This record gives sequence, C-alpha cells and structure tokens, in this order.
Amino acid sequence: MTERIDGHTLLISLIATPIRHSLSPTMHNEAFAKLGLDYAYMAFEVGNEELKDAVQGIRALGIRGSNVSMPNKQAIIPYLDELSPAAKLVGAVNTVTNKDGKGHLVGHVTDGTGAMRALKEEGVEVKDQIVTMTGAGGAGTAIAIQAALDGAKELRIFNINDQHYKNAEETVKKINENTDCTATLTDLSDQTAFKQSISESSIYIDATGVGMKPLQEESLINDPEVIRPDLVVFDVVYIPKETKLLKFARENGAKKTINGLGMMLYQGAEAFKHFTGEDMPVDYIKELLF
Ligand code: NAD
Repeated sequence: MTERIDGHTLLISLIATPIRHSLSPTMHNEAFAKLGLDYAYMAFEVGNEELKDAVQGIRALGIRGSNVSMPNKQAIIPYLDELSPAAKLVGAVNTVTNKDGKGHLVGHVTDGTGAMRALKEEGVEVKDQIVTMTGAGGAGTAIAIQAALDGAKELRIFNINDQHYKNAEETVKKINENTDCTATLTDLSDQTAFKQSISESSIYIDATGVGMKPLQEESLINDPEVIRPDLVVFDVVYIPKETKLLKFARENGAKKTINGLGMMLYQGAEAFKHFTGEDMPVDYIKELLF
C-alpha cells in the first residue's frame, strides 16, 4: 500500500455501519493494484446520523465515488443530485459516482444487475421465466426489479407480514406499471400458495437472509417434494457458502444451487466500472477471495 499511495491517489469510500466485516475494501484494492490504477478504497463507519455530513465530505474532498450499504441505501437519496433509472425504480442506492470529483453525485444500484449476472454466469436466464421469490427488503427489491427489467415473465413474491410487506406491495405495483412482467405478492404464511408457486417456477430466489447468522439453522423450504430436478435455487447469503436451504435443495436433487458470492462479486464489479471506467479482473478476484 505505501508503495502505491501518493499525492495523486484518488479515494473511493464505503459508507455503512456495521462495515468492518465487508469484503469490498479488499476486493476493490486488490483490483486497483492488479490493474495498476491509482485509487484507494476505504470503509467508513457511517450511519444515518452522520450521512449528510459524509456526503458533503465526498463533495468537499473530491472523493471519486462511494459504495453505500445498510442503513444508508435509501437514506442517501435526498442528498444526491441524480439517480440512475434503476436506482429510481428500486428506491435505493449502493453506488455513488462523483465524475472528475466535481461534486455532481449520481446514485446507482448494482445489486440487481449483480444478481442477474451471477445467474447468467451459471447459465441461468430469467427472461420468459416464472420466478418465485421470498424477501422484498433492500436486496429483494433490487433483484425483483432487475429480473422484471430483464424480461422475467412472472415474479411471484412471498413475504412475511412485517414492516417490509408495504414495500413489497409498492415493488409489485412498480413492476406491473413499468415493465412487461406480471408481479404478485402473497403472504408467506400461505404455504399452499408458496409451494404451488414454486412448482410452476423454474427459479426460486431467497432474498431474506434466513440461513445466515443468527438463523443459520433455518430454511424456508423443508419439504423435499418442493425441490425438482428442473428447479434452480438461488440464495443471496454468502456466509455460510452453503445455507441450510442450498444444502437441502442440493441433497434433494435441484438442478442448480447458487449462493450469494457471485452477486457480491458482480455488484462490486459493476461499481468498479462506474468508479474507474475499467473492468474488474473478476477471475483474479474470485481466485483471491472466494
Ligand atoms: P432487509 O432487512 O432489507 O430485508 C429482509 C427481507 O427478508 C424482508 O423482506 C423481510 O420481510 C424478510 N424476512 C426477514 N426475516 C424473515 C424470516 N424469518 N422469514 C421470512 N422472511 C423474512 O435485508 P436485505 O438488506 O435485503 O438483506 C437480505 C439478505 O441479503 C442478507 O442476508 C444480506 O446479507 C444479503 N445480501 C447479499 C448481497 C450479495 O451481494 N450477495 C447483497 C445485499 C444483501
């Protein structure tokens, strides 16, 4: 690092809390070093209270871009100058660009496109498919909207009746009004409808985080009959690499099981492209980190 950073080095930030566990700083710094790009990426512990000042700091210091994670993905929107069409539709931002350090901040969302690319890299296309999803929080909304934009035929979202349910209703409305995809929302407590929906889908996506600590022993599917040899099961969680759901799906003969590592990698790769204009060396990063 000391050999790399000098007076010309440009800074990219990550603002979120908690954030010390994140793989993003290592991923981006290794990619900068590999390509010989004069950037450094640093994580800053920033919550909603510090957010306004942090965004002013990005402008004042000419920080060239920033990733944004919880709890700031929605809260940052009022402080930005412009949103990409996808960020506007999703209502959340995970990447901010500050072109030439001039202070005009544009918000993008790369979680949905990252997830779609992760599926494509595994040979899975959402176009013309019926997709069942659980979860409509930050990750789920971005995935649902991108899947609809990428031509999914039907998106059937199931959510528990918690504070995210209203957001899920809005997501379904946005998809139906703005895309050719037909979206529906059903309470996950209707297990008959959930199982029926999966039986008619080629892809099941779990975007709830169930399967990650502290719910690492839980899975939203426990009935072997739900898993079919032509069903793809995608879980956005990447720690652990194989959640209880993915293990269950693999052991019961699902066509393919995919964890959240690819989504993590490709949302980062797209952010990297926004920051630097260069392609992240994804194979190198994959080998190094995954
Ligand atoms: P969030 O809190 O915004 O949304 C969580 C969703 O899950 C909501 O729809 C909620 O209603 C639902 N939910 C919560 N507990 C549930 C339960 N017990 N049963 C059924 N549904 C439940 O969270 P988020 O930011 O969307 O993150 C969700 C998961 O996605 C996390 O595990 C996060 O680590 C992961 N994630 C992965 C990536 C990646 O790149 N792979 C990116 C973003 C988020």
